[in-house]
Amino acid sequence: MTQIIDGKIVAANLKEEIKQKTEVLFKTKGIKPGLALLLVGDDPASKVYVASKDKACAALGFNSIIMRLPDTASEAECLKIINDWNNDSNVHGILIQLPLPKQIDEQKIIKAISPSKDVDGFHPESVGRLVIGLPCFLPCTPHGIIELIKRYNIETKGKHVVVVGRSNIVGKPISNLMYQKQPYANAIVTICHTGAPDIFKFTREADILIVAVGVPELIKAEHVKDGVVVFDVGINRVADPNSPKGSRLCGDVDYASVLPKASAITPVPGGVGPMTIAMLMYNTYLSASGETQY
Ligand code: NAD
Repeated sequence: MTQIIDGKIVAANLKEEIKQKTEVLFKTKGIKPGLALLLVGDDPASKVYVASKDKACAALGFNSIIMRLPDTASEAECLKIINDWNNDSNVHGILIQLPLPKQIDEQKIIKAISPSKDVDGFHPESVGRLVIGLPCFLPCTPHGIIELIKRYNIETKGKHVVVVGRSNIVGKPISNLMYQKQPYANAIVTICHTGAPDIFKFTREADILIVAVGVPELIKAEHVKDGVVVFDVGINRVADPNSPKGSRLCGDVDYASVLPKASAITPVPGGVGPMTIAMLMYNTYLSASGETQY
């Protein structure tokens, strides 16, 4: 029987745990975790993401600050806001909703965030600390995968983990995490990307396959071996005449065909996706409480 890795349940449980810890933090130390969110422009998807992060803050008893700027905003305006938040003791986490408009240098903005409030884990200092195995805030989606590995007790030590995709937010950090000499890691890691002549040569070798490419149902049954554990990060909307909406969500893995071969698999939606905001909340809680980071 294939184990379905249910990110919805794990995320809900984790959020409940954070909510309880947040109550204790407030009662014992008078601290409420505070998350500051900067949204520049009118991108509809970004607006939805910011609204759901704000909603999660309210549900867990966090303070949230949302600063909305028009898409004509300057780099200097953004830097000023970040500087104010860096110096505000009620702000424990700073999140810049990406992408930013063209006139703003994304890396310059990310570098302006104090690493002590970098709950997205994108600051170069956080990335460097992750690579050399020092405590840091882990980027939320890879952190979510680690949490699923932990809660489903998936053996990783000495396993061959194949990661497809090398983005800064998923592929690179999860690859760098999986080989660390840590529990829920300590694996042998291969990274595949568009430069690879044949990615399937590697995916067929995977004990654990992590796919983050943004290509609908790229990985089919013939591209995996029996017993593989699959983490499908992709979220794609594809046309579906059988659906009332005319479309449906799918992952980067052809779930229906891979399911019977896998020993465990994340569905889309409801797998890795729900973990991302839960881990953002967790990082913000850690920043507020001063508890040890990963
Ligand atoms: P990205 O576009 O930044 O990077 C995609 C990577 O995949 C690139 O490194 C590219 O080299 C590689 N790639 C693309 N096509 C390939 C192919 N045919 N063969 C091999 N490699 C290929 O994407 P991303 O930000 O990492 O996101 C990937 C997917 O994950 C998207 O569907 C995105 O929506 C989803 N995503 C989900 C969450 C979440 O669940 N919360 C978070 C982030 C991203």
